[in-house]
Amino acid sequence: ILAEGDDGLYIIDQHTAHERINYEKMRRRLESLRGQRQALLHPLTVDCLPDELSQVLEQADELLESGFLIEEFGPTSYIVREIPPYLEPGTEQELILHLIHRVLEGEEQARLYDEYAAMKACKASIKRNDYVSGEILSEILKELSQCENPSRCPHGRPTMLRISPEELDKMFYRT
Ligand code: ZN
Ligand code: ZN
Repeated sequence: ILAEGDDGLYIIDQHTAHERINYEKMRRRLESLRGQRQALLHPLTVDCLPDELSQVLEQADELLESGFLIEEFGPTSYIVREIPPYLEPGTEQELILHLIHRVLEGEEQARLYDEYAAMKACKASIKRNDYVSGEILSEILKELSQCENPSRCPHGRPTMLRISPEELDKMFYRT
């Protein structure tokens, strides 16, 4: 996207720009649902080693705080009865287990939210080569300007480059 500003010409990457917007929205949503849980219609039984089971039971409080209600289920398995409300119904088991392991590793909730929000934002954002109407592009520019950190995507890539009027003049040999 090319855009003109008071201080020069902006070249904006539509994917990273959209990603930044979606990330900040998602991050706020995760924060607002902190500490809540939703029951799984079909609780998830997980087979594991006895070591892992004792780790899960030891850290049951941390897991609960992160939204996972887990109980012992025989000597080498546990059952996940409740999950955080931000995980959509039908979320793959793999992702649920990944998040549980991150909690067991002692990852802070804030970091988990960052990671999850960045992943969701990437999937939800327009792609680099997608054709996007002018209306949507102006909406993206408007929302990007309201972001807390508009200049980078959640993975650290720039969302935009600026060329100052002086640089433009120089490029066109205008003095
Ligand atoms: Zn991405
Ligand atoms: Zn990114």
